[in-house]
Amino acid sequence: MVHQDPYTSDRSYYECRDCGSRATAERTPAACPDCGGRVRNIGVPRE
Ligand SMILES: [Zn+2]
Repeated sequence: MVHQDPYTSDRSYYECRDCGSRATAERTPAACPDCGGRVRNIGVPRE
């Protein structure tokens, strides 16, 4: 069993170009879950 820290796992960080919402996901979705607009990957968040 893999032990992962949710803050350091390799999740992508993306931003919606239409509504500006930002979220993390295991993979950047093709469309914004909120408005269906296009999203862009802005990298992996780092502390
Ligand atoms: Zn959106």
